[in-house]
Amino acid sequence: MPKPTVSVFQYPRTREEMPRGPYAKAGVLVEANAGWRVFRPVIQTARCRKCQQCWLLCPDGAIDRTGECYTVDYNFCKGCGLCATECPAKAIAMVKEGAKGE
Ligand code: SF4
Ligand code: SF4
Repeated sequence: MPKPTVSVFQYPRTREEMPRGPYAKAGVLVEANAGWRVFRPVIQTARCRKCQQCWLLCPDGAIDRTGECYTVDYNFCKGCGLCATECPAKAIAMVKEGAKGE
């Protein structure tokens, strides 16, 4: 077994130094886990403060902050609701899958 490569890691000091996009490769544990979902998170962009809390906490790395607005990769979001619970602006609504108007 090859030795692991030693590398120097430094935590980002500012928000701008943090990487763009999902914080981790989505679907690390399974290929796709959308089938687990009963409720889906819907980000209300007008209320979002871009605080990064959801992006940092999502256990699946399913939140993307590459563009202007934060978005959810529904192929890998399992609907745990952690992002909605922890959002300080209450900008994420958990909407039942298949609800009217979907
Ligand atoms: S936690 Fe809420 S306010 Fe913060 S970036 Fe996510 S959606 Fe926006
Ligand atoms: S519901 Fe869970 S898996 Fe889906 S985006 Fe929010 S924290 Fe990530």
